[in-house]
Amino acid sequence: MESQATLRAWRRMKGRRPKTIEDTRFCTTNDCETKLSRYNHGPFCYNHSPVRFPRNRGVVSEA
Ligand SMILES: [Zn+2]
Repeated sequence: MESQATLRAWRRMKGRRPKTIEDTRFCTTNDCETKLSRYNHGPFCYNHSPVRFPRNRGVVSEA
């Protein structure tokens, strides 16, 4: 119980919005309002990304 109260107080201190949410970015392509994923560090959305990321549709290359 005691630890739970401490945790609650701690959360209140750090209760500000997570930085990741404020970091919302959008595709830089004109006329494209696609919101970029926080995991997408590129300037374009997946549709407009000129570079094919070596992620083979989720399959991890074993090479
Ligand atoms: Zn786009």
